[in-house]
Amino acid sequence: MSRRLEGLAQSDIRAMTRAADAAGAINLGQGICDLPTPAPVAAAAIAAIEARKSTYTYAEGDAGLRARIAAKLARVNGITADPETEIVVTAGSAAAFTCVLHGLLDPGDEILVPEPYYGYHVGAARVAGVVPRYVQLVGSRLRLTEEALRARVTERTRALVLCTPSNPSGRMLDREEIGAAERVAEDHDLLVITDEIYESITYDGRQHISPASTSEAMARRTVTILGLSKTFSITGWRLGYVAAPAAFAEKLKLVHDLFYICAPTPLQHGVAAGFDLPDGFFDEMRIDYSRKRDLVVGTLREVGLTPLVPEGAYYVLSDVSCMGAGSAREAAMRLIDEAGVATVPGTAFFSGEHDEDGSRLVRVCYAKEMGVLEEACDRLRRWAGA
Ligand code: GLN
Repeated sequence: MSRRLEGLAQSDIRAMTRAADAAGAINLGQGICDLPTPAPVAAAAIAAIEARKSTYTYAEGDAGLRARIAAKLARVNGITADPETEIVVTAGSAAAFTCVLHGLLDPGDEILVPEPYYGYHVGAARVAGVVPRYVQLVGSRLRLTEEALRARVTERTRALVLCTPSNPSGRMLDREEIGAAERVAEDHDLLVITDEIYESITYDGRQHISPASTSEAMARRTVTILGLSKTFSITGWRLGYVAAPAAFAEKLKLVHDLFYICAPTPLQHGVAAGFDLPDGFFDEMRIDYSRKRDLVVGTLREVGLTPLVPEGAYYVLSDVSCMGAGSAREAAMRLIDEAGVATVPGTAFFSGEHDEDGSRLVRVCYAKEMGVLEEACDRLRRWAGA
């Protein structure tokens, strides 16, 4: 067995889905996102299967889809990318991240990862022999600062991971924070790896900022990872994409070919149709998620599990100290048994190196139908009242 896997176990994100299934609990743990797929996206995928578009695409993806991605990047993200040389369609954004680890980094290289982090970034890095160094975010709003970044830089640091809107905290990086990241990246010649898969789920009129769009210097050193799982509620399709300067994209394409061959062809045709959806679709999605956020945040407050109100994405970190549990996992297991609601223990998102180790937190996902969320909130209220 590979030594690189020592100490690695399957994430609690997935373990809690199994625990929820076994107990028949409502699963607000794993970000499954079982909302309806937009009809034009589903129809285009079905049509592609029926038209026998079922063989390989190029490793970098279907040319028509890449052209649409390039137009969307320019219009929505403020990123200029040549569809021929600077965009790679990937088998999910996790595959994009893997391609970066294996195509642009070497074993022993260190990457800066602000925590709380998405555990798969850290786990995948460790499988690639890349060493995560955890950056402590500051204050109750979890801000990224230049000082905290610099504190973790060593001579082996090669890259910095920016996840915005953040899984698990829902924080969105503002220009000041991205500026801090840029200064550190410039000083130490770091690659910037973003994960912006929740870009279209934002609240209170906030605008998502793609780090690569903020300056020429940032664009030159940034690999922008995006995906369609959350935007079109197709987490099981495994469709993502990456935009990067051509020299980087060339290597990402090479690794993507070796590891995955190509992203699923008919599904590439399906998501291509999604790029034609009117702006109203995205506005409605934001309104729908805002209502869900408000319901869940309000209920968590009511039952004493103080939430960190998300600015984007569809997760909320919630303080379970009042339960008096010995660990976050114990609190999450008790919420399954006593309330019939599954969450993810906060420890899945922290290294344990800093003061905050996630042990007083759980993550609640609200990418669910409203009726299911209402039932989950009723259960939480009954549990708190009992
Ligand atoms: N991104 C989702 C989450 O954080 C699902 C990830 C997964 O299944 N690994 O829950």
